[in-house]
Amino acid sequence: GNISEGDLHFLEMLGSGNCGTVYKALHRKMSMPMAIKVIILDCTVDAQKQILSELEVLYRCKSPFIISFYGAYFMENRISICTEFMDGGSLDQYGQIPEHILGRMTVSIVRGMQYLWSLKIMHRDVKPSNILVNTTGEVKLCDFGVSVQLVESIAKTFIGTNAYMAPEKIGGQDYTVQSEVWSLGISLFEMAVGRFPYETANKNSSKPLELLNSIVLKDPPQLPRGVFSDAFVDFVANCMQKVPSARPAPEALMKHAYIERYDDEKMEAIARWVLEKVEEIQRQKIAKKTSSA
Ligand code: ATP
Ligand code: MG
Repeated sequence: GNISEGDLHFLEMLGSGNCGTVYKALHRKMSMPMAIKVIILDCTVDAQKQILSELEVLYRCKSPFIISFYGAYFMENRISICTEFMDGGSLDQYGQIPEHILGRMTVSIVRGMQYLWSLKIMHRDVKPSNILVNTTGEVKLCDFGVSVQLVESIAKTFIGTNAYMAPEKIGGQDYTVQSEVWSLGISLFEMAVGRFPYETANKNSSKPLELLNSIVLKDPPQLPRGVFSDAFVDFVANCMQKVPSARPAPEALMKHAYIERYDDEKMEAIARWVLEKVEEIQRQKIAKKTSSA
């Protein structure tokens, strides 16, 4: 059945992005934690109906590498999208991630992307903040664009640049699975070194055109050899080729030496790392509170 506002007990805000705010809530009857993404959308009732019906595709997205969908509802001019809560949050908050952890995470990320592609769904927004982890070591994708109407309605109010966008997309060419492979590559690069790989400006800069220009015009950045395994350097370089058809996809991704190396199902390695980090972040929050009190 579907969820309504009365079923939920809102607990805390988890974060907010360009188009909405995500809260943690408890589903009262199921006593299950959920993540509720609330987006303000000024659209017609017809558009609302269309969005809700398009989102139903999400009920059929069942994979260990994809966030589970529990339902969505409109209240006034806001849509609330209810999904699985991930206690490790998103990968953008962790800074640099060691290769042996990131490598194992990548296996799940690629499996998630392949699952979506197998359903003819394009993610359209692969980036560290849309990759979630939990303390059991699961890694799952969220925020993929299943509803054309929702994407359109958000686009009307969206301001800002998508720094993870492939050069061909910036140039207005066709968007393909290979474009998502670029986004995967640049995301891995950022998480491996702990900073966004283009130097001109940071990705939230006031000079977005400069950033987009360097992505389109410059040679893609390379991970330093020696610091990272050759397989990893090569994988990211393959993903970040300017010519889309030169990038591996989809079968070739799984067959790459980097993926094969870390495809050992050692989820407990990720689990331990995430748990440690979550505890560290928790301690920092408490320290901040006590120092400001
Ligand atoms: P953008 O709006 O540019 O896509 P974003 O992805 O950071 O940026 P949101 O999708 O609104 O923005 O998410 C905000 C934050 O909420 C995320 O960065 C993440 O930390 C947290 N979050 C989102 N979904 C979940 C979830 N299912 N479980 C736990 N935390 C989540
Ligand atoms: Mg997001």
